[in-house]
Amino acid sequence: MKDFLSQRIACPHCGHHIHLDLDASMGDQDYYEECSACCNLIHLNMHIDYARNKLELHVDSDDEQIF
Ligand SMILES: [Zn+2]
Repeated sequence: MKDFLSQRIACPHCGHHIHLDLDASMGDQDYYEECSACCNLIHLNMHIDYARNKLELHVDSDDEQIF
């Protein structure tokens, strides 16, 4: 398994596609990324499943925003 993975996600706010470089060597991560299109924060939760050698990425907007 590669330590660096390139993943494409869709922004939960505007649907803009963003490329992420994930560092799987750090283990599970929970962090925020700013969308380059709408500047909202995207909550990213990365879980590494070593048993199945898989990387799971959960993407959400974290909070219910009222526009
Ligand atoms: Zn966006």
